[in-house]
Amino acid sequence: MGVGPGCILCGHQCRADRSAGETGRCGTGTTVGFSSALLHKGEEPPLSGKGEAGGSGTIFFTRCNLRCVFCQNWQISQSGQTGLEIDVERLTEIMFSLAESGACNINLVSPTPYAIEIAKALAKAKRQGLDLPIVYNTGGYDSLNCLAMMEGLVDVYLPDAKIGLAPGMDENEPDSVSMRLFGAGDYVKRNRLALKEMKRQVGDLVLDGRGLAARGLLVRHLVLPDDLARTSSLLPWLKENFGRDLHLSLMAQYHPSHKIKVGPNAEFMDMPGLGRPLSVREYEKSVDQAIDLDFHNAFIQDLEAAVQMRPDFTKPEVFN
Ligand code: SF4
Repeated sequence: MGVGPGCILCGHQCRADRSAGETGRCGTGTTVGFSSALLHKGEEPPLSGKGEAGGSGTIFFTRCNLRCVFCQNWQISQSGQTGLEIDVERLTEIMFSLAESGACNINLVSPTPYAIEIAKALAKAKRQGLDLPIVYNTGGYDSLNCLAMMEGLVDVYLPDAKIGLAPGMDENEPDSVSMRLFGAGDYVKRNRLALKEMKRQVGDLVLDGRGLAARGLLVRHLVLPDDLARTSSLLPWLKENFGRDLHLSLMAQYHPSHKIKVGPNAEFMDMPGLGRPLSVREYEKSVDQAIDLDFHNAFIQDLEAAVQMRPDFTKPEVFN
């Protein structure tokens, strides 16, 4: 299904023979690329907890199957700085180490290329008594084969819905904007299938008595300047397909990074909005739309707080 003759773990379905040394479009071979593990206090409240709660036990993997041109994690996802190469045994130990430090859950960031090793590590950790909710924190370009492997192991799906369709566009058409921004021209089609499968597996988000996510689906969407992520068409689609009880995190933290220089640059001259942060007015417009659509469970970000949560993976304290 994955590592073996032909990897099809993500929407690219590039069929790289990773066990024979091929690395595929994501650059992943046979080992797990590990960057860091920490107690993350800046995720949505059901993930990080409030007040004295321990934070989300976050494991950052290196490499990624997507190529977002403004990725805030680009240092580990696309720079070629690969961190440590670890095996299933070490991954299991890291999960227990986070649990012992007081984590509210185990939060696996960009897990898709490592789904096989993650499934093995989770099965092993659960056999050995790990009983925290498992959060699958993904760009949302996972294949159905990959998600089938996760069924019964993952408690909370935390996918992105990065972009909607332009007016009049069919999801089967190649999308030049999602190709340029995320490296996947069929992102919307694959993402829709993945979100529906995640919902089928775990249902709507359910919180425990402390307000922490126990099980379910929480969809993230980063609002971009000039509606470049087509938020205005994505939100109605989400409402129509998942209903008003969908837990939706509307993120405001866009800022020009990675391949986007401050101000328009040659490659993105036709998308000048990418050269500046999201404005308060633009964000409020998306929030108002979510309210008008009657979403009952939308998480809204404080713009200033969002800016303070930019990671720097070259520092020992990633979020300081
Ligand atoms: S995870 Fe995706 S990009 Fe990476 S080798 Fe598998 S199919 Fe290719």
